Amino acid sequence: MPTTQGRETAAIGQAEAKPVRLQLSRKKGFDLQAHSRAVNGLPAVSVARPGILGNPFVHATDPAQAVEAFDRLCRGGTQSFQCSPDGLHFAGSIHANALHWAWSEWLRDHGLPAIRGKNLACWCAVGSPCHADVLLRLANGPVCDDPLPTGADAGEGRHALAPSASSNPTAAREH
Ligand SMILES: [Zn+2]
Repeated sequence: MPTTQGRETAAIGQAEAKPVRLQLSRKKGFDLQAHSRAVNGLPAVSVARPGILGNPFVHATDPAQAVEAFDRLCRGGTQSFQCSPDGLHFAGSIHANALHWAWSEWLRDHGLPAIRGKNLACWCAVGSPCHADVLLRLANGPVCDDPLPTGADAGEGRHALAPSASSNPTAAREH
């Protein structure tokens, strides 16, 4: 039956919605999913602490600093940050050092695919710096589509211990 085609095209409508950041609320009756669908029809994921996608960096004075630190962590996971009473520091035990090293790979392989195409919710006020903006960009941007080198290394026949981007200085294609 050729009439089924009309139904399919009518169902496409909201597939192009752009994921946005939402602000969580403690108001009684606040329903994140209902709020999210009302905004643009997409489902939402909370990325607030203490979830795995919460920003492990807390800030004393400048939230933008904590967001920048998170951005760097997502892109490499091996940068170090100054820890002082006035500066950035890890919040509790959310990311132990042992996990810190694998963070960017976990994010790329599991974290970002799980939140791609979804709104992200955090407590931060809309318009203020928030790590959820970093996640939105990474999850929905072209970074995830970068081809990673596989086992077929046509180089010097060297034995690669671990396919880590941090050991390859030419892989610094970031924005
Ligand atoms: Zn936030």
